[in-house]
Amino acid sequence: MRRLWIDGEFTEGSTGRTIQVVDPATEEIVDVVPKGGVAEVDRAVAAAGRAFPAWKRVPALERAELLVETARRLRANREEFAITLTRETGRTLRKNRGYVDWSATCFEYYAGLIRDRRGRVIPSAETGQLNLVLQEPMGVVGCIVPFNYPLMLLAWKVAPALAAGNVVVIKPASQTPLTTLDLSRVFDHLPRGVVNIITGAGAEVGDALVMHPDVPCIAFTGSTATGQRIYRMGAERIKKLHLELGGSDAVIVCADCDLEAATRAVAWTGFLNAGQVCTSAERVYVEQPVHRRFLEMFSALTSKLVVGPGMDEKTEVTPLIGRAERDQVEARVQQARREGAEIVTGGRRPERLTKGWFYEPTVLAGMRHGMSLLKEEIFGPVVPILSFSTFDEALDLANDSPYGLGATLFSTDAKKVRRYYEEIQVGNVWVNDPLVDNPAGPFGGMKMSGLGRELGEEGLLEFQQTKHVHWDIEGRIKPWWYPLAD
Ligand code: NAD
Repeated sequence: MRRLWIDGEFTEGSTGRTIQVVDPATEEIVDVVPKGGVAEVDRAVAAAGRAFPAWKRVPALERAELLVETARRLRANREEFAITLTRETGRTLRKNRGYVDWSATCFEYYAGLIRDRRGRVIPSAETGQLNLVLQEPMGVVGCIVPFNYPLMLLAWKVAPALAAGNVVVIKPASQTPLTTLDLSRVFDHLPRGVVNIITGAGAEVGDALVMHPDVPCIAFTGSTATGQRIYRMGAERIKKLHLELGGSDAVIVCADCDLEAATRAVAWTGFLNAGQVCTSAERVYVEQPVHRRFLEMFSALTSKLVVGPGMDEKTEVTPLIGRAERDQVEARVQQARREGAEIVTGGRRPERLTKGWFYEPTVLAGMRHGMSLLKEEIFGPVVPILSFSTFDEALDLANDSPYGLGATLFSTDAKKVRRYYEEIQVGNVWVNDPLVDNPAGPFGGMKMSGLGRELGEEGLLEFQQTKHVHWDIEGRIKPWWYPLAD
């Protein structure tokens, strides 16, 4: 059994309850972790609070070196972390190796950035004065992450939060807590209490963390429904909230693009991690003259994809995280069929895989705008293909969503590309190359997809608060002070 990590020490917690972590590919229990409760949240927040005064005074250069060491330890343990990630998320080992490296890169990026980000000096109103704009840490940051990218999305929060001089309490999703608990070994060179890792139910441990009076900032990634709940709870104490929520990403395929490249890229963005990516293709709009051709090429490619366990190097499409999630995808596809959708490929569980929560990569056609499947993210390996006549129509369709996380355009026409990136209402805009992140490029959503940005300079600002210092160095008496001169 793995244990919680509070104040630099391992603990089984006080509740005596546990959570079983199940491999989505085999349905075997991988390990058991303590199901912490409110007492564990209190202990972790208190430990972090004690560590904060000293940690925020650690010079930025030294903090940067400590973060570089975290990155080094992540890379040194790449294979072990990647295997644990594969067993708890179901995702391919190949991709998970990359995600360990990518998470390390995030720590290195913020280690570099914090070396010259303390604030700025602004011109003063009079000579003999100094005006400073200081960026200061906030204190204890609660980091809550979803099941789909437990390590990478955590790195996007913890690296900038620590770089800025904050201390953290981490809560992973109940389905995927193992890699997160194992991170104690990449953080144990930091002063005790700077990083604390607790597990437990969202509604218990998550709520307690969000509501805790000594946690001024919550960085959350997860569903819009949970984000709304956290937003309401945070309002009580005017907390700083950083919310990365759900999406309904549109893809526009123009007739002028390289259709072969678009076909392969859409399959990748639709079926990567079994479609359990916040920015996966949820709605694909293809220009009328190439719609039929694209549908043929896309379904031919989809039907050849290898479905299987993530430990198998040949696997392209992995299982869903759980039985309930697989059943929900299945039910929503059947609902779409009843509403008139045609299942071109997939639409069922693979027969040869008797264990695991697999679902065949599925292509739907004959969909109409407004059908239920197109309104809310499906979070499964299902790609609906629709058509459009004019570029205006494509932009209207793509923007007609309460979400605004990401979007992709396939086109070689510079005029279209420019109109698209100016008019599309999303935070992550891709052209001909979906889902690619950049540590220096801010990531986040508009509309109901969230508040704030991760990565880039913006991702550091999320964990800082601004202070304006006005200092009259000479200390001269001002003519407007009391008593007023005659
Ligand atoms: P979820 O909202 O069910 O859970 C996310 C986290 O919140 C988990 O750790 C969970 O335990 C915790 N939680 C649940 N209830 C809580 C509560 N009342 N208070 C505090 N914490 C609580 O999401 P999920 O199913 O794990 O992840 C899938 C969702 O995450 C999808 O909607 C996806 O689009 C979204 N997501 C968004 C991004 C992004 O960057 N915008 C990235 C990945 C995933």
